Formats: sequence, C-alpha cells, structure tokens
Amino acid sequence: MPAMTNPYHAARFLKSAPAPAQAPPDQGAEVAFAGRSNAGKSSALNAITGQRSLARTSKTPGRTQLLNFFDVGEHRRLVDLPGYGYAQVPMAVKQRWQAELARYLQERRCLRGLVLLMDVRHPLTEYDCQLLDWCNQAQLPVHVLLTKADKLKRGPASAALHRVRRALGELHPGSTVQLFSALKHEGLEEVRSQLDRWLELNAG
Ligand code: GDP
Repeated sequence: MPAMTNPYHAARFLKSAPAPAQAPPDQGAEVAFAGRSNAGKSSALNAITGQRSLARTSKTPGRTQLLNFFDVGEHRRLVDLPGYGYAQVPMAVKQRWQAELARYLQERRCLRGLVLLMDVRHPLTEYDCQLLDWCNQAQLPVHVLLTKADKLKRGPASAALHRVRRALGELHPGSTVQLFSALKHEGLEEVRSQLDRWLELNAG
C-alpha cells in the first residue's frame, strides 16, 4: 500500500463566523465538530491535525463565535462549533446561537457529516441528544467520538461503546461511534478514515 500523507496536518485557520451567513461560500466539502464544553474537542482537533494549538483559535476571546473554519485543502474544511456551552453569555444569545446552529446543520449543503464528541464517562447529555435530533431531521450523518477513553479500563470503555451504539440506533440510525483518546492517540486512524470518506480525501 502506498504511504499516505495526512492531509489534516496541513489544516490552517481560515475564518470565524458569527452566523452561517458569514461562512465561506457553500462549496466543496465540510465536516463539523461539536461537543459540550470540556468534552475534549480542542484536544481531538489538535490530535487529528497533529497540531498543538490549532483549536486554541476557537477559544480565543473574540473568536468564540458560532463557526470556526479550518482549511484542509482544495475546498475542504473542518469546522469547529464552539457552541454556547463554552462562553458565559446571556440566555437570549444562547437561544440565537442554537437557532443559528440548527440552521447551519440543516441548510449547509457542503456539510457532509458531524463529528460529535462526548466524554466516555458522561455520554448522551441533553445537549448531545438535541444535536442528534437536529442531525436526524437534516439527515446529516454523525460519527460519535467517545473521548478520554484512557480514563476507563478496557471493560467499562467497551461497555460504554456498546451502550452508546445501542442508543444511537434509536436516536440517529446509521450513525457510527468509536472510542477515542487524544492523550493516548487512540482511535486516530479510525476518525481520520471517516473524515477521508466524507471529504473524499486520500481516495487514490
Ligand atoms: P473542549 O472544551 O471540548 O475543547 O475540551 P479540551 O480539549 O479543552 O479538554 C478538556 C479537558 O479534558 C482538558 O483538561 C484536557 O486536558 C482533558 N482531555 C482532553 N482530551 C483528553 C484525553 O484524551 N484524555 C484525558 N485523560 N484528558 C483529556
């Protein structure tokens, strides 16, 4: 098999947008990353792209906006959705963010899938179920990362994987789920393969 390069190493911050209207043109292909604050999203993005501080951009004050776009090559993007869980903002702002997020998930035509990150010890929170519901309505494929898998022993981690897989069968049929640890670099190949398929990268 020929050696494959990791296109995600070349990820570069492109722009932040407070609403879908300010997003880059709806062309090419995009995969979005969402998760509750502290789920391990920044660590996962940094591990996947092999860059130490890529996703810090999304936590920079002033950039805690709805959508942060990273370029990974010809009209291919990763999108960090910081979400309303992160910043201390008024309820009215949170509600507007929610509406904009739902609109982005439902209307963005180049969006190929959502990577949803959940702490393996606390999966399927209300926030996660809300996102799964929107994705289900939008018929948007979802790949779940059960993060910080290193925090559990193999048996409990595998039990959590099976439990979430069963629940997803009801909440969003067709979605996929895996264990992931940014700390131990566990599950990197599996998630990169999913991104490759959605973005049609490394295909030949
Ligand atoms: P975010 O808020 O979703 O972007 O989460 P961060 O990536 O900032 O991570 C939140 C906390 O979880 C930090 O203290 C990280 O060090 C920790 N964390 C993230 N990923 C892992 C992991 O794979 N293993 C362990 N043990 N801790 C992690």
